[in-house]
Amino acid sequence: GTSFDVEKIRQDFPVLHQEVNGKPLAYFDNAATTQKPQAVLDALTHYYTQDNANIHRGIHTLAERATAAFEHTRETVRTFLNAPSAEEIIFTRGTTEGINLVASSWGHTHLQAGDEVIISGMEHHSNIVPWQMVCEARGATLKVIPVRADGSLDLEAFEALVSSRTKMVAVVYVSNSLGTINPVKTIIDKAHAVGARVLIDGAQASSHLNIDVQALDCDFYVFSGHKIYGPTGVGALFGKREVLEAMPPYQGGGEMIKEVTFEKTTYNDIPYKFEAGTPNIADVVAMKAAIDYLQALGKDNLAAYEHELLTYATQAVQDIPGLKLVGTASEKISILSFVLEGIHHFDIGMMLDARGVAIRTGHHCTQPLMHHFGLEGTARASFAFYNTTEEVDRMVEGLHRIAKLKG
Ligand code: PMP
Repeated sequence: GTSFDVEKIRQDFPVLHQEVNGKPLAYFDNAATTQKPQAVLDALTHYYTQDNANIHRGIHTLAERATAAFEHTRETVRTFLNAPSAEEIIFTRGTTEGINLVASSWGHTHLQAGDEVIISGMEHHSNIVPWQMVCEARGATLKVIPVRADGSLDLEAFEALVSSRTKMVAVVYVSNSLGTINPVKTIIDKAHAVGARVLIDGAQASSHLNIDVQALDCDFYVFSGHKIYGPTGVGALFGKREVLEAMPPYQGGGEMIKEVTFEKTTYNDIPYKFEAGTPNIADVVAMKAAIDYLQALGKDNLAAYEHELLTYATQAVQDIPGLKLVGTASEKISILSFVLEGIHHFDIGMMLDARGVAIRTGHHCTQPLMHHFGLEGTARASFAFYNTTEEVDRMVEGLHRIAKLKG
């Protein structure tokens, strides 16, 4: 039992109140993207109807208001991550761009032949491919922390991998395919012991866990606005000041310069050095509303309720014939990944959609992880705090019917 008032919270999310294929929508694809509370939609409308102007350069009132709103989000993200200073927060298009920024700017200036970058076997493609690209360009080697049968990382194997050759460890905090919460603090400490930098992919963690980049002591942390109930097309990168200051710009253009002549350009200070061009002002502004919304409800409360949903769903699918869970580590967020014997995951997704239940199917942008488990993909239900046990019941009932089709 919980005092959590899910019906009240659902009123904040307009999109939830619709029928899909004649059935009430049950949205269980929150690991792909989260729905947006009215406060976020209002922030977008307010910005475009009241304040829209380009930022930082204008001296007129709208430009000042837009700049102030933009920079307020930077301060809000600072508190969201408990970063030491707002200058260490760089706005990006999302997790993918944050990782590419670091792999490109830091990687091309800090990696040499013989160096090693360590990632894990459960990374999203966005934390694999940028490192492969820079390793190939620099003659460095990519190493991979193996995944155990329960979907947790093999830390003993990690210890054997880390050496004086290790220059970067880039790992996912929470797996989008399995829900596993990785012991990133331990990984960070072991990486620092050999002088390596650490990037944490916080795409899934940031909506479920309290994030403290100072306690973690990570060098970089990235996340996406659209996975924390904010808009698409926006995210943030935290980087330690001294590390960011030693990095060259990622892109060139307006905003990131101090002075430009045809002979030489001097670069702006952080964070602006990494924010070339007119940014995604409206969505940055609205991301603040998402963070404020989460903080007001309290992530601990949300996570506790989501954990109840996970426990409930995990129990409820136990007796579905032929269902096998993929990812059963003890530390998990509210993600249920599974396969049904003899039934393709796409068919599960389509048949559940016919019942108004939205899940994800496929490789979840983690093909190497799927191959590790001998799978092409899974069916994945990822729960948010606006989901209900009644919705879970409808999914489970649907899965029982689908499982029967096989025989
Ligand atoms: N890493 C993880 C763990 C993710 O779940 C995702 C999104 N599925 C990403 C990275 C990429 O995020 P984005 O597409 O928002 O850049």
